[in-house]
Amino acid sequence: MDLIGKVLRNYIAGEWRPSAATHSLPVPNPATEELLARVPLSPAEEVDAAVVAAARAFQAWRETPVVERGRKLMRYKRVLEDHLEELARLTVHEAGKALEEARGDIRRGIEAVEFAAGMPTLMMGRVVEDAARGVDQELFRAPLGVVAGICPFNFPAMFPLWLMSIAVACGNTFVLKPSERCPLSAVRLVELLSEVDLPAGVVNLVHGEKEAVDAILAHPAVRAVSFVGTERVGRYVYSQAAANGKRVQCLVGAKNHLIVMPDAVPKQTVGAILSSAFGNAGQRCLAGSVLVAVGEAGEVILPLLVGEAGCLRVGNGIEPDVRVGALIRREHKERVEAWIEQAVAEGAKLLLDGRRADVPPHGYFVGPTILDGVNPDMAIAQEEIFGPVLVVMRAETLEEAIDLANRSRYGNAAVIFTQSGAAARTFRYRIQAGMLGVNVGVPAPMAFFPFTGWKASFFGDLHATGMDAVEFYTEKKVVTTRWW
Ligand code: NAD
Repeated sequence: MDLIGKVLRNYIAGEWRPSAATHSLPVPNPATEELLARVPLSPAEEVDAAVVAAARAFQAWRETPVVERGRKLMRYKRVLEDHLEELARLTVHEAGKALEEARGDIRRGIEAVEFAAGMPTLMMGRVVEDAARGVDQELFRAPLGVVAGICPFNFPAMFPLWLMSIAVACGNTFVLKPSERCPLSAVRLVELLSEVDLPAGVVNLVHGEKEAVDAILAHPAVRAVSFVGTERVGRYVYSQAAANGKRVQCLVGAKNHLIVMPDAVPKQTVGAILSSAFGNAGQRCLAGSVLVAVGEAGEVILPLLVGEAGCLRVGNGIEPDVRVGALIRREHKERVEAWIEQAVAEGAKLLLDGRRADVPPHGYFVGPTILDGVNPDMAIAQEEIFGPVLVVMRAETLEEAIDLANRSRYGNAAVIFTQSGAAARTFRYRIQAGMLGVNVGVPAPMAFFPFTGWKASFFGDLHATGMDAVEFYTEKKVVTTRWW
């Protein structure tokens, strides 16, 4: 794909079309600031064209046997495997993440394609013979029609694959709106679909920002919207989509707590916290961002953690030993630095200052940062920073630690580090978050489970991936039959 400096095109009705947008945004490599491409801010008419193409393709696609749809997904999985390294490198260039993390991004996306390939089984209905005397009842699942996916910057391949593969395998047609900050991986994923002969219009891609999103939310032919992004935009998308009668799921912000018990195994716990808090430069909805040290745990864990975090190499993720990549844009780097400044002003103690990390001359870098002495009323303890910043709070008991975590308005993930089954059970039972780790720093459900954010981390009822996604992208029909 030769995109350097070019304005990206939209993919509508099986062809790449230049956008008539009057504005475009630069897409720089966040680790070098080198211009990769420009992304058009497509107007509403281009979203309309994509939705119309998807609506035209729907009937024939819905009538394509689910086994054939599943086989196309199987072929797509093989194509993606063949291009895994290329896709991972592209993701590094546009998102600034470390290469191994980018490989993980693609692998997690491929897992959803694998799951979707099993759609003949997943879409099975249910039957009750003799629901009444001589009367049978059968439940069928039918696709919705045109559905749309609006994606964030931080996993530019995984989210398009999660949404698109399951929606399309269910028999829907799809309009993808990638992040305007990381649109290149999505373009390549759609290009690769040509290798599986998907009929024109089944998948469409429209670049853009608010105007394109608003056009999706208002379009009468769009039946369902999946959104992944910030809480602020998610609240808007949720309310607008619902007001327009659409099914909607919004995966939004997070502030994940890592509870460390005094009996946690130090070496493994520190390794898991490093990857949770600083992997992907903290730009992960499952990133650990508050460490709650219980009892004496802080005295053991913190010196080790600070020592090892200070040794993580920060830089261009394409270099093999880099562990912490770039933040997505200069403004975001400045926002993260301002959070650190504010926390210090509010009385937090800097154990490690990522603003002083050894970083390359160009690019948007902040190194791992650890702030101790944070109390739950400080803004830094409550708000999502989305950078490599870990704040530390103390608790006397597990109950107190759980209460601290439960004060958060978010409930995406939470983790406990312990060797006690009883402590792990109490944590699992009482914590108000949907994705839990026991001695696992990034408790990401695999594609056959739903991605179960709680509280202000998720708006909707059916989650992404797993059977929830099959339910989300289908509607049920119950047929009652009597024969004389
Ligand atoms: P974002 O909200 O800035 O953008 C997400 C999408 O919304 C993009 O496609 C963007 O074009 C669109 N958008 C932006 N502003 C808009 C507006 N005013 N009106 C309509 N649409 C608009 O999010 P981001 O910064 O790309 O992603 C990071 C966020 O995503 C973080 O908050 C992170 O926690 C969250 N996230 C959540 C999950 C989860 O599972 N809960 C997963 C990944 C990311």
